Amino acid sequence: MIKTAVSKFVLGTSTAYDTELPRQCPICSGFGAPTVTNKQNIQKRGISEFMAILEFYCHACDTCFYGIYDFHLPTDKSALFGRLLITIPNALNTPLPEFVQTVSPRAAKLYEGAENALSHGYEDLSGTGFRNAMEILMVDYGLKVIGIEESKLLNKQKGRKLKDLFHLIKEVLPTVQLQNSADVVRILGNDYTHYYVEYSDKDIKILKRYLDIMITMLEGDYMSRYPEYKRKE
Ligand SMILES: [Zn+2]
Repeated sequence: MIKTAVSKFVLGTSTAYDTELPRQCPICSGFGAPTVTNKQNIQKRGISEFMAILEFYCHACDTCFYGIYDFHLPTDKSALFGRLLITIPNALNTPLPEFVQTVSPRAAKLYEGAENALSHGYEDLSGTGFRNAMEILMVDYGLKVIGIEESKLLNKQKGRKLKDLFHLIKEVLPTVQLQNSADVVRILGNDYTHYYVEYSDKDIKILKRYLDIMITMLEGDYMSRYPEYKRKE
């Protein structure tokens, strides 16, 4: 996903609503604020809610790209809010650090699948997938890198089944920072997975952000366990 920031934009006489505007170009990945050059409403649901296509001009690569928006009234606000659903062309996927593929090819594949689901608008599927990727990566990391014994992670009453994610996070991850990040992914991921939702304002961007933070921290741990250069004894 590209980076966005909420601000008002002015275009001709159109009213300026709070809108998730791109801060990155999906074509060249360049950072900055593209200019809004056109806006076309594509579907009206009523007086105040509609879908729209915004056209953006990227100053870095001299190219236009588009964003499909859902302008709706948030439950707690009286003013419309423009949510970016997808950009055309679609945002570039985040490259995963190499260690993920090495330690857990299954997690790497899940992450990639969740990201693709998200870029096609399947938010629930993506939230479930990111949560799943987190669990698999964490367990693989615990077993293969940290060297935790498998028996410690098993739920003794249930044969060869792992403990639930709530307990696994504390059992496997060595720092509070890692545990906290994994908990954000678990809590929001549960809302995308289960029938009843605990947080009505769940946000896939926050979930993915914390998964990325967790992966970055694990990368640091991995690289310092296996340094590219070592002191000679
Ligand atoms: Zn660009």
